[in-house]
Amino acid sequence: MSEKMLKFVELNQQTPKKRDVTKRLDDFKEIYNEFVHEKAKAQSSRCSQCGVPFCQIHCPLHNNIPDWLKLAAEGRLKEASELAHSTNNMPEICGRICPQDRLCEGNCVIEQSGHGTVTIGSVEKYITDTAWEKGWIKPINAKKEIDQSIGIIGAGPAGLACAEELRKSGYQVVVYDRYDRPGGLLIYGIPNFKLEKHVVERRTRLLKKSGIKFYQNVEIGKNLSFEKLKKKHDAILIATGVYKPREVNLPGFNLKNIFPAMEFLTASNRKGLGDSVKNFDNGILDSKNKDVVVIGGGDTAMDCVRTAVRQNAKSIKCLYRRNKENMPGSAREVNNAEEEGVNFIWLTNPKKFIGSEKITSVLVERMKLSDPDSSGRKTPIPIKNSDFQIKADMVIKALGFDPEDLPQLFNEPSLTVSNWGTVKVDLKSMQTNIPGVFAAGDIVRGASLVVWAIRDGRDVSKSIKKYLEDKKINKNKAA
Ligand SMILES: Cc1cc2nc3c(=O)[nH]c(=O)nc-3n(C[C@H](O)[C@H](O)[C@H](O)COP(=O)(O)OP(=O)(O)OC[C@H]3O[C@@H](n4cnc5c(N)ncnc54)[C@H](O)[C@@H]3O)c2cc1C
Ligand code: SF4
Repeated sequence: MSEKMLKFVELNQQTPKKRDVTKRLDDFKEIYNEFVHEKAKAQSSRCSQCGVPFCQIHCPLHNNIPDWLKLAAEGRLKEASELAHSTNNMPEICGRICPQDRLCEGNCVIEQSGHGTVTIGSVEKYITDTAWEKGWIKPINAKKEIDQSIGIIGAGPAGLACAEELRKSGYQVVVYDRYDRPGGLLIYGIPNFKLEKHVVERRTRLLKKSGIKFYQNVEIGKNLSFEKLKKKHDAILIATGVYKPREVNLPGFNLKNIFPAMEFLTASNRKGLGDSVKNFDNGILDSKNKDVVVIGGGDTAMDCVRTAVRQNAKSIKCLYRRNKENMPGSAREVNNAEEEGVNFIWLTNPKKFIGSEKITSVLVERMKLSDPDSSGRKTPIPIKNSDFQIKADMVIKALGFDPEDLPQLFNEPSLTVSNWGTVKVDLKSMQTNIPGVFAAGDIVRGASLVVWAIRDGRDVSKSIKKYLEDKKINKNKAA
């Protein structure tokens, strides 16, 4: 172990009483930073510059990973950060929460050859966090102002990425969001332990300083009509995400203490942000000392079980009707949850919620998997007479999300949506069937990933720009 590392371990283990606390923290911070720096440098140096950048191909943003790894290995962090920002509006956020095992890192050539992936996400986070710390990341200073405006509905990653790109070109950008804070699921969905909220707030503050206007607590279709919005702006982007929770319609569904995942996660995130949350403060949405049952096998279910761990729940059980190998969530997240003590009860399906006023237990049945169908997927089949009960004083339903009924919500019946309710767009221009109205992110794809929302936001900004340029040319011709 190097001398620096020994010092790091020593400082890490000392109790504050032994030394002056402030001095200890300063020393610790300095050596910790050095340690992180050395680790990032070592990881970056592991990139073989293989010339077949599968990592880059499998990153939805096609980030120039080998080049910024090389720059980081050489200690040229400012250039590395500029390169990372040239394809990504939030590299430090993707570095923290992308499922890298399914994207860049899972396709790293070194990983494929059995030597363990270069930890691309951590290096991306390190490069950008350093850039923030050093003050290299500055608000946009548009070289010219263009007198055309865009109204963006939704301040999630899709809306924010599009807003930033259009503002860079000098457009007047206004973002409307029904939440009180910008960020969408980055703020109220993804838990704090995966994505610290100050990291998101740092980004949105920068966008405000860049001249983008934000109207919070404004729900389009409720506080402001879609019709008015169309008249107010030269183009509109719908980036509203998907929020309608999929239901478990079982006997006893209306018993107390059965919650949709977003209610549980939002309350927890709000507490982390310092808000007072009545139903958390009175204990209803706090899982501390409770027997918690989470239903679902995706990433949202993993966020719920891991949040319950951090709230000191008495026991946490996760019910999923398939087995571990067939879970839809990230394998890394499932392993993390298992390590943290979550009890997965594979191949089980809830049949009934039991209790008089509040939930006291869940009746479940055991399942087995069929042979694979033509698509290769195995169907879960109930096993007869296999019912048993699981004690529960809190149940969290995490079965995924569907889009809300936007044509109805926006009072815009002509807006074309798919059978699933996602907004239909022209695949190339991302324009809806209404001229000048575009859509991006989860509301088009269905529940997806942050990195895809950013990609969509960037892509749609180019189409909006083209639309506005044409609009201006046609206006001038007509004049
Ligand atoms: C619990 C959870 C955990 C997740 N974890 C991860 C993860 O670890 N990694 C990852 O890559 N992805 C994760 N995802 C997915 C990711 O968060 C989404 O794919 C991404 O946020 C979609 O971005 P978006 O901009 O399309 O929508 P959103 O982030 O949902 O933003 C939409 C915004 O639109 C606003 N809005 C909606 N309707 C209206 C209206 N009528 N008027 C005004 N505003 C409106 C909403 O308030 C919201 O702010 C997670 C999702 C959930 C639910
Ligand atoms: S954006 Fe995501 S997929 Fe792309 S390099 Fe970063 S962590 Fe990997």
